[in-house]
Amino acid sequence: MEKLVSLCKRRGFLFQSSDIYGGLNGFWDYGPLGVELKRNIKEAWWRDMVTGHDELAAPAGAPTAYQMVGLDCTIIMHPQIWKCSGHYDLFHDFMVDCRESKKRYRHDQVRGRWLTAKGQRIFAATESGGADGKGEQEYIEAKALKFFNLRAKDAGQLAWEGELLSLTQVPDFAQVLAPDAKELGTLTPPREFNLMFKTYVGALSGEEGAAFLRPETAQGIFANFKNVVDSSRVAIPFGIAQMGKSFRNEITPRNFTFRSREFEQMEIEFFCHPRQSPEWYQYWRDRRYRWYLELGLAGDRLRLRDHHSEELSHYSCGTADIEYAFPFLAPGDFGELEGIAHRGDFDLRSHMEGKLVRQGNELVVELDAEGKPRHRGSGKDLSYFDDETRERYVPHVIEPSAGADRAALAFLCEAYQEDEVPDEHGKPRARTFLRLHPRLAPVKAAVFPLVKKDGMPEAAQKIYRALKPHFNVFYDEKGAVGRRYARQDEVGTPFCITVDGQTLTDGTVTIRDRDTLRQWRVKADDCVDEIRKGLAASG
Ligand code: ATP
Repeated sequence: MEKLVSLCKRRGFLFQSSDIYGGLNGFWDYGPLGVELKRNIKEAWWRDMVTGHDELAAPAGAPTAYQMVGLDCTIIMHPQIWKCSGHYDLFHDFMVDCRESKKRYRHDQVRGRWLTAKGQRIFAATESGGADGKGEQEYIEAKALKFFNLRAKDAGQLAWEGELLSLTQVPDFAQVLAPDAKELGTLTPPREFNLMFKTYVGALSGEEGAAFLRPETAQGIFANFKNVVDSSRVAIPFGIAQMGKSFRNEITPRNFTFRSREFEQMEIEFFCHPRQSPEWYQYWRDRRYRWYLELGLAGDRLRLRDHHSEELSHYSCGTADIEYAFPFLAPGDFGELEGIAHRGDFDLRSHMEGKLVRQGNELVVELDAEGKPRHRGSGKDLSYFDDETRERYVPHVIEPSAGADRAALAFLCEAYQEDEVPDEHGKPRARTFLRLHPRLAPVKAAVFPLVKKDGMPEAAQKIYRALKPHFNVFYDEKGAVGRRYARQDEVGTPFCITVDGQTLTDGTVTIRDRDTLRQWRVKADDCVDEIRKGLAASG
């Protein structure tokens, strides 16, 4: 992971936001190559889910054909949206503060183990994933040894109890040795912390002007459901897709871009008849999993995990996460890339009637102490009328909700490879390369003149100009050609085209494949077709 982070910075994929002022925790900027990678991910998603979707035939696994349209809503919306969606009351994490180290942790992200030594029983804790380059057990053991003033060779004196536990399973913190503390009992009791960023709209700075930066793009889709139905000729089943920035004031942003405070989401709200919703849920769960596989995430590091019923949100009748085994996680741990949720009619009904709560098997409007709705809905009719069956109903919703930044990070982690290639003298040379899917690769081809003379630069520039209208290509004439190959491998460019002495006599150039290192000659005039063919074949 450290190597990938350093490559990302060195080659201009990702920079810490506000770097020159020491950075701002939880915010990241995409550099010249990173912005291309992220755009390619978003474009692949938009094309595969929206514009490229064939609405005339049912795709494999889908119950019927369906339509897809897009939307682009504002980041700041009417504050009532967040009250009815439940985010105002429920979108919080619990945090604990350490009085000694002054550090703040997410309650559910501290883990530890009970142990006894020298007659004293303590709970030694770490942040999940470990710290200081140490895994969880290793970090905890080192902390415990230090606490009891023992040497590494005395580790046998530590009597461990049970497995790693979450701090949420420890009711009293008196015996807890916090992740960065030297003494026991330094953690405060857990406190609630709402993750929405608050701001003020207009000149009003009081509560009347208070608004929130959206913590998800989904609510803009629900708020526009009626607009879309009334203005476009969509009929159920159909989906509305949106991508854009979301903001969450995460307590402990970390793991590079994995948990950021400003990030981009790619979300679909798919509206269907309640009776068909289980089948549609199944379809989207499988369809979205396949999308990552098709773009190159490996089977054993990617998994589809169904939530246990106790994990489900208050409105959901089924949720699955697509997860990736990021290298910064503890071995065997996976991090969420996308959640696919069956949301029933919770959202549309909340925006009609007011914030809902579950009462037994029913969703009912939550009331305040005076018996009035706790948060009033819009009062607008968001039901759907089916012209063919003459039936009116509130559609059910399936929501595949993905993060563009987490996807970018997973594709980068998966792509990072090291191998050995023979140098110009046939000796093995270590190489780093990004085996990115050609659709995602920031640069599709690089064009080099072998040397900067004999008309080679001119011939190479001609090829560069012929390719440029079709693909993002890069021209480089600086340094030894081996170095130039290495630089392109490192940023995942699938093909390098080299103009050499032979080009000037027979008009052919060499094309080199990033993954197989195969080199073959083609006519310079055929480069556009050859690269197009190569990109399609390796896709
Ligand atoms: P987590 O449990 O990891 O905080 P979540 O379950 O709260 O995630 P969702 O609310 O389901 O996440 O959001 C949908 C998607 O948005 C996630 O799968 C993820 O890809 C992305 N996402 C959510 N929070 C962040 C974040 N802080 N930074 C980057 N991406 C995020």
